[in-house]
Amino acid sequence: MDNSADFTHLKQIVLGCGLSLRAQSGEWFGKGRVRFHLVRQSLIIGVVAGLVACSAPAAQPTSSVDSTSLSTPPTTSPTQTTATTTTPIRVLVFYKTAGFRHDSIPVGIEAVTALGEEHGFAVSPSDDASIFTEAGLSGFEVIVFLNTTGDILESSEEQAMEGFIRDGNGFVGIHSATDTEYAWAWYGELVGTYVEGHPAIQPATVNIVAPGHPIMDGLPAAFDRVDEWYNFRDVPEAEVTVLATLDETTYQGGTMGEDHPITWAHEYDGGRSFYTAMGHTEESYTEPLFIKLLGNAILWVSGEGQLRFRQDFGSAESARGGDPAARNGAHERRRFSR
Ligand SMILES: [Zn+2]
Repeated sequence: MDNSADFTHLKQIVLGCGLSLRAQSGEWFGKGRVRFHLVRQSLIIGVVAGLVACSAPAAQPTSSVDSTSLSTPPTTSPTQTTATTTTPIRVLVFYKTAGFRHDSIPVGIEAVTALGEEHGFAVSPSDDASIFTEAGLSGFEVIVFLNTTGDILESSEEQAMEGFIRDGNGFVGIHSATDTEYAWAWYGELVGTYVEGHPAIQPATVNIVAPGHPIMDGLPAAFDRVDEWYNFRDVPEAEVTVLATLDETTYQGGTMGEDHPITWAHEYDGGRSFYTAMGHTEESYTEPLFIKLLGNAILWVSGEGQLRFRQDFGSAESARGGDPAARNGAHERRRFSR
C-alpha cells in the first residue's frame, strides 16, 4: 500500500478543510516541527474526522504566493508505517522592495528553491505583502527576507509577522534585509541592526568565529569571496551570536574594526533569527559555501537544526562582549540613503 499517495490525497482534503481540521489533527498539521508517527490507523481516523469537520467541498486555499508548491507531502516508506519523520519546512521567500532592487533576487529565489529540493523545504516565493496575515503566515515555519528594501509592510502586516515569530517560527535575513523597515523597532531587533553604508564590491576574507554553531556546520574557518560588504549602524544586540566577521585588513572601506560582524543569529521573542550581510551579487547564489550557509540557517531557525545537531545556542553570548547598553544607547532609527 502506498501511504505516500494516501497522504497526498489526505493533505489535499485537509487543505480544503482549513482550520477546522487543523485543530483536530494538530499532530500532523500543527505549526512547527511536529513529528508525526504515521500509523495507518491514525490516518484513517484523521480522514474520517476531517471529512466530518469539513462539510463544504474541498477547495484549494487562495494564496498570494507564486506557483511553487506550498505543500510538498512528506515522504514515508511503505514498509515503515511507524517510522518517525518530520513535516517539510515551509519557507516563504519574501522579496518585496520599496527602495533599491537587487538584480540577484531571481537567482536568490532559484537558489533557495534548489535548497528546498535538496533538503525537503517547501519554498514559496512572493513579493505580495498581503500574505502577511495570521492565516496567510500559518502555512510557513520560516520567512526569508531576500534583499528586501525600504518600508514594505503595513502595520497590520507587521503585527502578523510579530505573531509568527512569537509562535516559535524562524526568520532569515539576507543582505539588504538590514536596509528594510527602519521605522519598525521590533524588526530592527529581530534582524539585529541596520546598514550604514558600504564600499565598492570587492573580495574580502570572512572568518568564522562560532565554529561550533550548527549554522557553521561544514564551513571552513576562513574563506575569501566577493561581495558588497556592509558597514552597520551599530553592532547587533548583546544576545546575538556573531557567527562570522570580516577581516577589514583584506579589503578597502571597512569601518567597524577588528570584529566587523557580517553574519549572526539569535533567539528573539519566541522565535529564531539569522542574518547575513552577504548576498548582494548574483554570483553569491552559485557559491557552494554561501548556499551551505543559507541551508544551515533555514534549518536552524526552523528548529530543524536543533533537532539534527542536538545543540542549542539560544542564549549564547555575543562573541563581541562589551557593554550592550553603551552599544545600543544610540539605537535611533533613521533612513539609510544609497
Ligand atoms: Zn546590495
